[in-house]
Amino acid sequence: MQIDELVSALPDRVLARGDQGWEAARHFHSGTGDPDAIVRVDSVADVVAAVRWAADQHVPILVRGGGHSAWGTVPGGLTLDLSALDGVDLDGSTVRVGGGATWGHVAEVLSGHSLGLSSGDTASVGVGGLTLGGGIGWMVRAWGLAADQLVGAQLVAASGEVVEVTDAAHPELMWALRGGGGNFGVITRFDFRAHPLPAVVFATLTLAGDSRPLLRTVREVMRDAPRELTVTFMDVPAMDPNAPAGATLTAVWAGDDEDAARAALAPLLRAEGVADAAIETTSYPDILLDMPAADPEVPMPGFVGGNTLLHELSDEAIDRLVSFRESNAASVLLLRSLGGAYGDVAPADSAFPGRDATWFAMAGAFDIPGLVDDESRPRIQAAWDAIEALGSGVYGNFTTSTDPVFASKMYPAGTVARLASVKRAWDPSNVFSRNHNVLPA
Ligand SMILES: Cc1cc2nc3c(=O)[nH]c(=O)nc-3n(C[C@H](O)[C@H](O)[C@H](O)COP(=O)(O)OP(=O)(O)OC[C@H]3O[C@@H](n4cnc5c(N)ncnc54)[C@H](O)[C@@H]3O)c2cc1C
Repeated sequence: MQIDELVSALPDRVLARGDQGWEAARHFHSGTGDPDAIVRVDSVADVVAAVRWAADQHVPILVRGGGHSAWGTVPGGLTLDLSALDGVDLDGSTVRVGGGATWGHVAEVLSGHSLGLSSGDTASVGVGGLTLGGGIGWMVRAWGLAADQLVGAQLVAASGEVVEVTDAAHPELMWALRGGGGNFGVITRFDFRAHPLPAVVFATLTLAGDSRPLLRTVREVMRDAPRELTVTFMDVPAMDPNAPAGATLTAVWAGDDEDAARAALAPLLRAEGVADAAIETTSYPDILLDMPAADPEVPMPGFVGGNTLLHELSDEAIDRLVSFRESNAASVLLLRSLGGAYGDVAPADSAFPGRDATWFAMAGAFDIPGLVDDESRPRIQAAWDAIEALGSGVYGNFTTSTDPVFASKMYPAGTVARLASVKRAWDPSNVFSRNHNVLPA
């Protein structure tokens, strides 16, 4: 790799192994990377120079937005650290967000204008990875995925060309950016349509006992619930003394009408298994979670399980999911309601799959010595596979590797073919390959 050329094109931006600051620069939120070089870009021109160099040298690029994906540890290549591109600017209800910004920052700026966007649930997650992969958030039923709120982008293509992407100018590329991942270039600016959001109503229901009857009630309530209401069920083990263990149902109402929120929640508050409930009207940034970055000295444990988009949260699915959690002491179970605005988007109008899904489910056992071993691992995986068989596709943003097996489970064949054709147009040499990779075709 002829790194001298890159260093002279971008003085003070490039770090290689052994350079001062290298160790700190290669850590990201979810782990520690092992690239050949890191460029900490500060402008669109920096991105263009780095992309041109990498394409010329046939060096694969890993784009780092918020650094929350688990695959930033793939060795070699050039990491483009976009964290300095974190501007958030309002132009009416259009919000222009730098490609390395985080959702907590976006929510803070928008809150000052009584506006909001549906993002994820955690403040430090990057706008880049979450949006390009879809983005299931606490207001997904009100406003759809993060990607559904995307109205334009500035993209640096593999050729180094800077492209203003809109539905009118580049419809196929715009379609691909709504769920097709980081395959098509570096997004230096995302343009979203923001929604009026004076406040949110936030409820936490603490649950006790068997989760099955409660989940059946939640399913029935959410079938007809107003789309302002989105709920998340979570059951986590008591592994971290600082984190609340057990089962909870979190509900977010997109808006400040607490009476309407309480009315929608009433059947849940009365449901069997609800031990306690707290409801408050607050600001959206206040409900975004903090999640500490991974300790570089402690490798993240593996995860035996997976995720799937469920057309129907059937009794069978509930039973398999709860049984999975019950059979594995150190396991997590997460369910998020979909439908509403999420289901308004026609399958052909975005690359994101599974628009007919009404629930998202994720379950996994932590692969930690003493808890999971060679004998139990296949049994746990088989239990998950039986759950996934009830679903209609995998959500890439919650997968832990870029193994091609995931990419093939994420998209229907027709979507893969359409993505491959967009890829051929914008990245024919597959410079952007460190992702759920779609090969140009
Ligand atoms: C604590 C935590 C909470 C989460 N909560 C949610 C949630 O509520 N909802 C949800 O849907 N997901 C959630 N996720 C999953 C999250 O969406 C993915 O991990 C996502 O990849 C994170 O994006 P990032 O920019 O932080 O990550 P990065 O690792 O920086 O980026 C991931 C990939 O996205 C691409 N990419 C990122 N930025 C750009 C850019 N500007 N231009 C081009 N490509 C880019 C690259 O291909 C990169 O490999 C969560 C993850 C964690 C760790």
